[in-house]
Amino acid sequence: MNGSEQRLARPVIVTVDDDPGVSRAVARDLRREYGAQCRIVRAESGAQALEALRELKLRGEQVAVTLADYRMPMMDGIAFLEQAMDIFPFARRVLLTAYADTDAAIQAINTVDVDYYLLKPWDPPEEKLYPVVTELLQTWRSSNHRPVPETKVIGHRWSSRSFEVRDFLARNGVPYRWYAASDAEGERLLSAAHADQSDVPVVVTPEGETLRAPSDAELAARVGMSTSPGEKFYDVVVIGGGPAGLGAAVYAASEGLRTVLVERTATGGQAGQSSRIENYLGFPDGISGSQLADRARRQVVKFGAEVVSARDVSGIESAGAARIVRFADGGSIAAHTAILATGVAYRTLDAPGAEVLTGRGVYYGAALTEAVSCAGQDVFVVGGANSAGQAAMFLAQRSRSVTMLVRASSLDASMSAYLIDQINAAPNITVRPRSVAVEAHGDDHLETLTILDETTGEKETVAAQWLFVFIGAVPRTEWLDQDVMRDDHGFVCSGPDLLSGGRRPNGWTLDRDPYHLETSIPGVFVAGDVRADSVKRVASAVGEGAMAVMLVHRYLQWP
Ligand SMILES: Cc1cc2nc3c(=O)[nH]c(=O)nc-3n(C[C@H](O)[C@H](O)[C@H](O)COP(=O)(O)OP(=O)(O)OC[C@H]3O[C@@H](n4cnc5c(N)ncnc54)[C@H](O)[C@@H]3O)c2cc1C
Repeated sequence: MNGSEQRLARPVIVTVDDDPGVSRAVARDLRREYGAQCRIVRAESGAQALEALRELKLRGEQVAVTLADYRMPMMDGIAFLEQAMDIFPFARRVLLTAYADTDAAIQAINTVDVDYYLLKPWDPPEEKLYPVVTELLQTWRSSNHRPVPETKVIGHRWSSRSFEVRDFLARNGVPYRWYAASDAEGERLLSAAHADQSDVPVVVTPEGETLRAPSDAELAARVGMSTSPGEKFYDVVVIGGGPAGLGAAVYAASEGLRTVLVERTATGGQAGQSSRIENYLGFPDGISGSQLADRARRQVVKFGAEVVSARDVSGIESAGAARIVRFADGGSIAAHTAILATGVAYRTLDAPGAEVLTGRGVYYGAALTEAVSCAGQDVFVVGGANSAGQAAMFLAQRSRSVTMLVRASSLDASMSAYLIDQINAAPNITVRPRSVAVEAHGDDHLETLTILDETTGEKETVAAQWLFVFIGAVPRTEWLDQDVMRDDHGFVCSGPDLLSGGRRPNGWTLDRDPYHLETSIPGVFVAGDVRADSVKRVASAVGEGAMAVMLVHRYLQWP
């Protein structure tokens, strides 16, 4: 067990008394008896003790017992216990009183539900203090409270930014616990963080640090991900952390190239969002996208490549022999070569209402994060390709029903046969061919969906809270300037495709043709889905990443 695990394994006893001598004496006696199993935290005023309780709450620790002196200036013991109850409602409460205050103490039992009042002095503790505290500890333990060591996210169920924060953490493999801001524990955490509903999403790190509505970059930095490059110059900068980028980084770093990979959201790319990849070589039983991404990420780090997270690349240019990669939020990285592996982005649903409800009932490829919330409910999936089929199968495990809206007359032309068989065999999946989601409605979140039957021309509006959209993708190349040649759809051209009638592309300065996977900027290569005419598979993306590295070596060795 490391230090923080040890800390979390022991519940806390908090004691507060304004007389420093008494405060130390109570803490000493408690420590002597319970020090091995509990952590004793002592304070000398109600305000100080409340602040300690808030910190403990944010760090995910559990308070088992609070002992407070009745007569304290500013805030008496009853007022303190009342507020302490708002932070740790299940902690047992003890009031320490002098004989003269017994009546007030008895009244207090009714006001703040005090479990016990102890008369001062409590000597000998073996007779007066320990039997009480031991019993209260047993009562507390029997109700099975557990510490929450993970990052905590407090937000609104139907807020798109709250969803994005959870999705970002999940896809980056950061364990977190979710609390609805309107639930009692969510409210308690917000209050402990001195935050309110207008601050959400609020993220509390395992160390107890509070972030109000953080950006991805801020979040990444605080949960331990690196957001800045460590070096001034690299052999290769890989842009995009999907299978192509991860593959390139593994091969480049393992072959001794100084490598940095820049990812805007989460390593794993589209594949990281796949619920189960069944056709990737070496995984006969399939592997979830997040597992594959996690393994690849570890492999990248193992070979010594740097991973810079939550940074958006917004430009690439040549400066002599160097390739400069610019970030959208300022700053840049310089390298001898670059590999573009930015993949594709989901095409958005062209239906009134869909845009404003994105993240609030309408989701793109977010099946994994949201699946738990759909348990027992009716779900709609738009799309007829493998990604939609996988999502439908995954969602069907927990949802009451899954309805697939497919524009084509069947799945045959767009989906693998094995998936069609699985969908046909699933009792709670219905496929509606020639059906299109044409409108999404809802105030706060998705409530109804209008579906057009393209065979009959009829429209039907149905109750719907969950809509997952998988309708193809567009290349993420909008940020490239025209020096990087692309096809009519925006995919990056490379190698022989750049030659027009045997002529090299405009601006090409070298006395040789572009290598395979080399773009119209020498030394800048492309791999994976973003490449024109690519195969759009995990295996081919990884393979192209490896091949791009081989060509990087060739480029670096070219005289
Ligand atoms: C739900 C789903 C299921 C799938 N299932 C399978 C399957 O079973 N088998 C299979 O073979 N294939 C499957 N695919 C396809 C496969 O995932 C893709 O072919 C593969 O992920 C492509 O990898 P890539 O690295 O080229 O691009 P992507 O996976 O798209 O990764 C690109 C990465 O670049 C990042 N990026 C983009 N722009 C920037 C920028 N400007 N700055 C920094 N970073 C940027 C993105 O955030 C992303 O992480 C599936 C796809 C989806 C969506």
